[in-house]
Amino acid sequence: MDSKNNSQTFEYKAEMKQLLQLIVHSLYTHPEVFLRELVSNGSDALNKLRYRQLTEENILDKGKELELKITVDPKELLFTISDNGIGMTKEDLTDNIGTVARSGTLEYLKKMKEEKKDTGDLIGQFGVGFYSVFMVTDEVTIETRHADKDSKGYRWVSSGESTFMIEEIAKEDRGTKISFKFKDNAKEYADEYKLRQIIKKYSNFADFPIMIGKEKVNTVEALWRKGEADVKDEERNEFYKFVTNDYEDPLFSLHLSVEGSGAEFKALLFIPQRAPFDLMRMHQHKTVQLYSNKIMIMEDCKELLPEYLQFIRGVVDTSDLPLNVSREVVQASPSMSKIRTAMVGKILQWLQRMAAKETEKYLTFYKTLGPLFKTGLNTDFANRDKLIELLRFESSTQKEGEMTSFKDYVGRMKESQKEIYYLTGDSRAQVEHNPNLEYFKKHEIEVLFLTEPVDVYEIQSITEYEKKTVKSIDKGDIELAGTDEKKEDDLSKSLVGLFKETLKDKVEDVRVSRRLVDSAVTLVTGNSGMDRQMERVMKMMGQEAPPAKRIMEVNIDHPVLKNLSRRYLANTSDEILKKCIVQLYESAQLMDGELSSKFDYVKRMTDIMEEATK
Ligand code: ADP
Repeated sequence: MDSKNNSQTFEYKAEMKQLLQLIVHSLYTHPEVFLRELVSNGSDALNKLRYRQLTEENILDKGKELELKITVDPKELLFTISDNGIGMTKEDLTDNIGTVARSGTLEYLKKMKEEKKDTGDLIGQFGVGFYSVFMVTDEVTIETRHADKDSKGYRWVSSGESTFMIEEIAKEDRGTKISFKFKDNAKEYADEYKLRQIIKKYSNFADFPIMIGKEKVNTVEALWRKGEADVKDEERNEFYKFVTNDYEDPLFSLHLSVEGSGAEFKALLFIPQRAPFDLMRMHQHKTVQLYSNKIMIMEDCKELLPEYLQFIRGVVDTSDLPLNVSREVVQASPSMSKIRTAMVGKILQWLQRMAAKETEKYLTFYKTLGPLFKTGLNTDFANRDKLIELLRFESSTQKEGEMTSFKDYVGRMKESQKEIYYLTGDSRAQVEHNPNLEYFKKHEIEVLFLTEPVDVYEIQSITEYEKKTVKSIDKGDIELAGTDEKKEDDLSKSLVGLFKETLKDKVEDVRVSRRLVDSAVTLVTGNSGMDRQMERVMKMMGQEAPPAKRIMEVNIDHPVLKNLSRRYLANTSDEILKKCIVQLYESAQLMDGELSSKFDYVKRMTDIMEEATK
């Protein structure tokens, strides 16, 4: 330490020098963040002052409007930013600005050096944001005066190499002014327009005015900090469009203010009206912006939401995270996972509320974003029960286009019905014509229609709802309560035998059906077989699913079966019998979209017609 007049020169500690090297060469990939850091520090200083003003009297310039001022001289490449915040004492200058020897910094640096790792943005966690100015300048001057009335003014100057200088100065007003000359390779920042853009990008919601000249640059308020009732719909919609670049209003919006439970944050979240173009590649779209005390730290923080909720947009603001944290640090941070858990819980509650109160809108959401949302059932086990409540399906007893929940379905169940039934397929029209539905229609038993490809996956994992088995009516082992046992006389037994003999390996079994009413035959899935819609979806995705054999059920009351029995009685080796059996089997396949050769099918049909018209 050497002193001349009242100025003192301090030597940076060794690790600080190394740190400075790192900052200039590898800390940030975008030099423009220097402005974010300075605005953020200024904003912090204003926040501290604001708090102090509430509790203390002895304050310089008390009552002055709190603001940040930026000036720039494009000719001389000069830049200043000043705030009338808390300011710094001499100790602050040496302890906070002059040293970065926070515990662990040196160890960390050494480790990084040994491992030859790219420190990149990681270093930001040590609170050295101020030093990012050395990316754009070679020398910085700070002039500051603490807000206490009896404080003195100081000037701090450093070239960020090995020393910094501090001297006492006459400074009338409280607060901090930081000034420097841009280096040649950073002269693009000596431009008001450019600075305005950077402020709008990173600091638009800083809740103190940022002035360049006479103009306030940050226009949008920190709406998420206000209560829902204090924000007008138009303001909210404006804000949504600003954050998302969407041109339409949002479908839903949610103000969150969470405290306790280990997470503290405020958020303003939105669900868009439309699904992005490619729903399944949602991770390429922007989700929520992460703010730390009103300063944006991440433009798109996917880590805050599980994959299935990545359609949510908006802003999350927390004081639990430091500025400058890299993705890796954010991901690993315990505060982060607490915020995430709290957010998911609130979002699901919100959806539940919307489903109950704004059913139409909820269904709009469900129809556009449902396919992504529903994947949560297979990934978010902690919230499974809530997610199941949010599912909606069309059903056989409801009008086309109307949707129902498991809860409402159970509410409508007759006492005799013990299970929840569903049927999967490509479209409502297709499932409605499925012969397996006939019995249920006749007896007015409701069947849920699952027509989205993702439904097939999700339903496999829902085996029960309110202690009632959830069952596909495509399955062979369906218990049909209250059906009369069909009389299986010897004749029908031999006919079934002939079916088996004729179809051989094509089917797993042939049985007398209790579910068919109008159709002659149907194919159902064996007890252990894969749902056939699932099989189809897998095929569509290019995955070869082993084709499970079906069980063929025959309706022995159907006129065709009766006629076949008669002919069988007359002549057990009647050629037409076998042709008809294969034809019935292939017709059922055709209905299911599983017929392999239409030529054989048509040829056989022509033979049968020829016989019939003889
Ligand atoms: P961080 O902001 O993460 O702590 P910085 O290197 O940006 O790290 O700043 C170091 C410290 O310097 C701050 O914590 C604060 O105490 C002080 N400081 C920086 N800028 C200002 C300012 N404009 N007014 C008052 N104090 C400031």
